[in-house]
Amino acid sequence: AAAATRVLECRDVERRFGGLVAVTGVNLHVDRGEIFGLVGPNGSGKTTMTNAITGFFPPQKGSILLNGEDITGLAPHKVARRGVARTFQNLALFNGMSVLDNILLGRHVHMHPSIWRTALYPWFAKPEEVRNREVVEEIIDFMQLENVRDEHVDSLPLGLKKRVELARALAARPSFLILDEPMAGMNQEEKAYMARFILDARDERGVTVLIIEHHMDIITGICDRMLVLSYGEVIGTGIPREVIADPRVVKAYIGG
Ligand code: ADP
Repeated sequence: AAAATRVLECRDVERRFGGLVAVTGVNLHVDRGEIFGLVGPNGSGKTTMTNAITGFFPPQKGSILLNGEDITGLAPHKVARRGVARTFQNLALFNGMSVLDNILLGRHVHMHPSIWRTALYPWFAKPEEVRNREVVEEIIDFMQLENVRDEHVDSLPLGLKKRVELARALAARPSFLILDEPMAGMNQEEKAYMARFILDARDERGVTVLIIEHHMDIITGICDRMLVLSYGEVIGTGIPREVIADPRVVKAYIGG
């Protein structure tokens, strides 16, 4: 694909923690409008790659390009400002707060903490607040969360909590969304719903999606392409049908 359609490119990425090489020699790219699966057994380096991309733990070697620009080592909030949002493997919601307020928090990436803004509150902050409300209302509608908008999130079943987390990520109006095991712990019905929302986010909102998952079966149905890590190295990449038939991938998954 042409450079203009390439949302993410990781070149020869290596990240170590002390003496441990968490990932090495990882090359991958995600094109605009793709749903891309980053797959691998536990401990294979999926989260490490995500942290490298989002600036939490920059790589010691290699580079990360976002929309063609080198973002290697950029601070997490700056990566976020460039349109990257993520959800976490373990829910990172505020339990004592309502669904609506949790989603509103997703807007903070667009808020301007400048002292002038604060001083000139009625002229600047007010319209910003109104705008944030509008975005959040639209997301609540999109994610079908009207019925629980005022509930505390701790009272919700897991499937809905995960949905709130996706809603909060979408509230930042990202162009690139990283989902860390968005279907973990869900029943079949909840998984099907989540898959639908992820596909709709791509189809209706133009969001490019990277999904991290260790259960292969969950995401082969919705991914355009995927990449498999094992012990921090790429062992297979391509369309799901080819990847799941790759002998190296089969071996890594059947306890090779
Ligand atoms: P996955 O997400 O595929 O389960 P991880 O990226 O979490 O794998 O882990 C890959 C390896 O890197 C593991 O051996 C893990 O213990 C190590 N690792 C990941 N993050 C850290 C960290 N912040 N500090 C130390 N070791 C880490």
